Amino acid sequence: MRTTDFAEPVLGWYRLHGRKRLPWQLDKTPYRVWVSEIMLQQTQVATVIPYYQRFLKRFPNLSSLADASSDEVLQLWQGLGYYARARNMQHAAQIIRDECQGIFPRELERVMALPGIGRSTAGAILTFACKQSWPILDGNVKRVLARCFEVSGWYGQVNTMKQLWALAERLTPQQHTDQYNQAMMDIGAMLCLKTNPNCEACPLSDRCESYRHNTQARYPEKKPKKARPNKQTLMLLHRYRNRILLWRRPPTGIWGGLWSLPEVGNAADITDWQRQHLSLTRSHNSIDKNLLKHQFTHFSLDISLAVIELDRLPGKVSDNENMVFVKADGLSEYGLPTPVRRILENVLKLT
Ligand code: SF4
Repeated sequence: MRTTDFAEPVLGWYRLHGRKRLPWQLDKTPYRVWVSEIMLQQTQVATVIPYYQRFLKRFPNLSSLADASSDEVLQLWQGLGYYARARNMQHAAQIIRDECQGIFPRELERVMALPGIGRSTAGAILTFACKQSWPILDGNVKRVLARCFEVSGWYGQVNTMKQLWALAERLTPQQHTDQYNQAMMDIGAMLCLKTNPNCEACPLSDRCESYRHNTQARYPEKKPKKARPNKQTLMLLHRYRNRILLWRRPPTGIWGGLWSLPEVGNAADITDWQRQHLSLTRSHNSIDKNLLKHQFTHFSLDISLAVIELDRLPGKVSDNENMVFVKADGLSEYGLPTPVRRILENVLKLT
């Protein structure tokens, strides 16, 4: 199939139905497009819009993001999940500030060398903000191409991704690339849905192998399912009057850099933990077993909670920077993982 045979109906559809007034499509700059592309990874447009608007209001340009405290960045990201995205973005902003005179690079390789930016995101930024011509392959585009050409295998397989990139490269037109890329993303998000795609309304239906063979449910092929391991943790809620003890998690790993509750393996470890970090020991009231189950990509976590009432604030905590007693009504100033915030809101409301 020639490039134009595929691109023409896509571009024609875009003119009539494509999305043209999303917040990041107005006043396009590499920075604004970059923020949107990172937020849109794993997250739907409708969810992203209010986050994007809040983020841009507080960090209107690259230097404001580079200079911000990581706490503030994570707090504005709170609820979007996949926090490594926010940490990488701030790290990349600092690299651009320090090594590129604050100017977002315009070369694909240099953009791809920044933390958290892969080939598709780099292509999208340069296409949308700089009018360059690069193919993209985000989740929506992958699904459209996998169905149109009945590409076998799943996305974790090198050969499958090679085929998809080869198709994206071959089909992406040199002219109007920004409109074509936007249209492919929109067709994936609006018509070529994971279940029940709206093929009747799709501009690619007479070029689509899946539509022809009625194999939409078979493509893209799914990753073979592996049982997700289950892990347990016991969170400690130390409370003195209206203050609770928060602990900042290490910068990498799950919920990296966010504020949370201290954790131990089980109840027998509580006393040791208190001795080590608070120089006091107090027994817990009770333990709420498996209060909440949270699903991560690679495992699920059963969270239990021990509430410990203190009759005084400890004279010292072991790590003042990463452990603070905060007023319960000041929690909104801290970036907390959503499940931890939910637990705290429930407990603080109940008592
Ligand atoms: S015809 Fe159907 S399956 Fe094929 S790309 Fe369009 S919406 Fe997807």
